[in-house]
Amino acid sequence: MPLVYAKASCTTSARIAELMQPFWGDRGNQDTIIGSLIGGEFITGTGDIIEVRNAHDDSLMLSFPDAAPSQVVLANHATQKAQQDWWALTAQARGRAIYQIGALIREQAETLAELEALSANKPIRDARVEVAKVAEMFEYYAGWADKLHGEVIPVPTSHLNYVTYEPLGCVLQITPWNAPIFTAGWQIAPAIAAGNAVILKPSELTTLSSLALGVLIERAGVPRGLVNVIAGYGHTIGQAFIAEGDIRKVVFVGSPATGRHIATAAAQRCIPVVLELGGKSANIVFEDADLDVALRGAQAAIFSGAGQSCVSGSRLLVQASIFDKFTSALAEAATRFTVGDPQNPDTQIGPINNARQYQHVKTMITEALADGATLPEAPATSVPGNAGYYVAPTVLLGDNAMPCAQEEIFGPVVVAIPFETEEDAVRIANDSRFGLAGAVWTRDVGRAHRVARQVRAGTFWVNGYKTIHVSSPFGGYGESGYGRSSGLDALREYSEVKSVWVETAAVPAANFGYGASLE
Ligand code: NAD
Repeated sequence: MPLVYAKASCTTSARIAELMQPFWGDRGNQDTIIGSLIGGEFITGTGDIIEVRNAHDDSLMLSFPDAAPSQVVLANHATQKAQQDWWALTAQARGRAIYQIGALIREQAETLAELEALSANKPIRDARVEVAKVAEMFEYYAGWADKLHGEVIPVPTSHLNYVTYEPLGCVLQITPWNAPIFTAGWQIAPAIAAGNAVILKPSELTTLSSLALGVLIERAGVPRGLVNVIAGYGHTIGQAFIAEGDIRKVVFVGSPATGRHIATAAAQRCIPVVLELGGKSANIVFEDADLDVALRGAQAAIFSGAGQSCVSGSRLLVQASIFDKFTSALAEAATRFTVGDPQNPDTQIGPINNARQYQHVKTMITEALADGATLPEAPATSVPGNAGYYVAPTVLLGDNAMPCAQEEIFGPVVVAIPFETEEDAVRIANDSRFGLAGAVWTRDVGRAHRVARQVRAGTFWVNGYKTIHVSSPFGGYGESGYGRSSGLDALREYSEVKSVWVETAAVPAANFGYGASLE
């Protein structure tokens, strides 16, 4: 049967094929750039053809077959040996190899950024920043590899009791399309630093940069099969790995609906899950804030990445005394963005990643206006008038009960909501089933801390927005998920904890146990 893989169907896909060449080398040719990377081998799929369209003009960019179910068995074998070999190395050797991954990413940074920009329809300037951050992630966790020591607990018996952190074995990571290489690095680096093997199933819409990263990881000298990347749909191969993979944990980054489904499926096998889900984060602006800075912050919070960021400041809570002035200024500022082709170095806001999400964003805006939300007076923002998935940055004036303020839109759309007092602001911020992030803008330091303490969110900024770093824990409250990525917390997520009791008494207690005394 002839193989039909990523056909170079247009200039963009031909360029993508060229960009993949340094990674696939002789493993594939220009027409076979998408398959899974399992045990260091390039494995082509046999399932339904997956088509990926270019968000800039709706042309067909790539097509490739879904992964075959037999890839689960291949990956089970590959990861088991690789994980054992990896854990048998000294911690220092693991650290050196992980550091080398960071160095290889830096060497290939421009190629990776261009690949990410093309295949994820992301402005090239954003892709460059994200790739640099991925290098930092491996550098950071390289340092942890030989510092994961355990603890000695001062137990009230004659025992030496110590705690060790061990790898889980192999973990399954399932990631979305909005920041593919960033999310891959964010999850892979702590997983391997803690001694695990990884099966990564990126979104079928944005597989390429994860494959390239998988190849670089292998080149850094880790055992073949330590990190495997699966090219295929979630409901087919992703689901098959949860049902039959030799995995000890699932780390899922994506939508709440899929997260719920995955957690339910994993529960059937008692496999623990980390969920990094969506958000509807409150960005709170008080009248005493530096309003120029807060205005720039509010723009960055929602419009960067065309709002396709889980931490977007998609609910803008503005004190009533400055509400009209602030929201008008925001709507006016939105018209000055350069919205267009992600390949143009001047582009600040690109298209929505895919047609389904584009329809969702458009529908949410239409329904919000039908529900009574209004638009501030401002000229229309210019967006390309072609068949691309472009949405102008949009400010909706509404209230917190509206669906547009409760549901995740995941596009460049902010719902502005007025509030009167600090108490009001906190109440509205917490009136959400999500709890991923939030921010407050104020010059009152006491108020800043009070609000930070009371808002239920995993990440909170004071007079800032969107800064995250691999060294600091990240995760959600409520329907934004559970478990933590990044920082030391991620290493704990990727570890088993073992408590070891060693009897040190010359004559152990008769019952070998612990009799508590009230004296
Ligand atoms: P999605 O839930 O549709 O898909 C995410 C991943 O799950 C993809 O790899 C997909 O193939 C896979 N998948 C889908 N159905 C599956 C199934 N039945 N079994 C196994 N895997 C399955 O999400 P998306 O549309 O790709 O991404 C957007 C969402 O991701 C938004 O809700 C956003 O907030 C969220 N997100 C969260 C974070 C975070 O860290 N909290 C970061 C980025 C994105």
